[in-house]
Amino acid sequence: MIISTLGSHSSLQILYGAKKEGFTTSVITDKNRENFYKRFNFIDEVKSYNSLDEALDLINKNNEESVFIPHGSLIEYLGMDRVKRIKTPIFGNRNLFEWEANQHKKMSLLKMAKIKIPESFESPEDVDRLVIVKLPGAKGGKGYFIAKNKEEVKEGLNKLLEAKLIKSIDEVIIQEYVIGIPMYFHFFYSPIFKRVEITGMDIRYETNVDGLRRLPTNLISVEPTFVVAGNIPVIARESILPRAFEYAENFVNTVKENVPPGMIGPFCLESIVTDNLDIVVFEFSGRIVAGTNLYIEGSPYSWLYWDEPMSVGRRIAREIKISKLENKLGEVTT
Ligand code: AMP
Repeated sequence: MIISTLGSHSSLQILYGAKKEGFTTSVITDKNRENFYKRFNFIDEVKSYNSLDEALDLINKNNEESVFIPHGSLIEYLGMDRVKRIKTPIFGNRNLFEWEANQHKKMSLLKMAKIKIPESFESPEDVDRLVIVKLPGAKGGKGYFIAKNKEEVKEGLNKLLEAKLIKSIDEVIIQEYVIGIPMYFHFFYSPIFKRVEITGMDIRYETNVDGLRRLPTNLISVEPTFVVAGNIPVIARESILPRAFEYAENFVNTVKENVPPGMIGPFCLESIVTDNLDIVVFEFSGRIVAGTNLYIEGSPYSWLYWDEPMSVGRRIAREIKISKLENKLGEVTT
């Protein structure tokens, strides 16, 4: 059986884990990165494409006996229309992609799960506090801006429209900027074991916002930006974990009710922890996040479930392996 994925994001971790679990591994990559992926002996086949339509054909080519693993770059690279035409079984719930791509639907799912979320503002006119304005999709924070009042929001939106980064202001979300520290909680829902596991935690290292604290504020006259350039490991106070689990379980139950067949595999609750140790979740990812790349030999949490090195990539492969043995592959793929 083949496990394949698109060459980017967390593909090395995914395929390394798949090889450890005994699968044949395949990467589908842009022609320019072919040589890069050929360096790794745990990748059995490197298939390269010259166009995105060709990429889709390659994904669909071995749909018998193969499972395709989606990650954060899939929709960014291929676009939603092509992703909808993937015929190969996907590990995870493909119906969640649309919820994730739309900022408003995304926040509504968290709200339904009774998870604490930042206030959001329908119109720039309603803004009465510090806000962050976000663009749709996982663009790694590109184009986001901070605004102190409604005038600054309108000014920033006009710039985005002029730069053609958005077509209409309905695409953005205007969200209260929560003061605290970022912590991104990685979870895995196993339909086979019927349990939520915590698999790790990270902080995104973002330029330039994370660099600004290196200089005294009186020397800085630039606006903060939020372009993700890397990830930093973090561990939470244990007393924060029960609430994080409560949110994760609520989320799994809400996805089950609203987005059939429910949550399958990795997801992340991207949060700010405030000074009264509240967790405010400002977005979710319904698939593997790049922050898990930190833990290719397992995280301090994954050891609590598995007495062996267990990355999220490997955990995915383990779920596929067990479900196949139990004739339940249909429960973990869509
Ligand atoms: P996102 O694309 O939603 O993950 O946001 C990119 C980055 O912006 C995050 O990693 C945070 O640093 C920051 N951010 C997003 N939303 C908020 C918020 N509501 N309050 C504070 N910081 C935020």
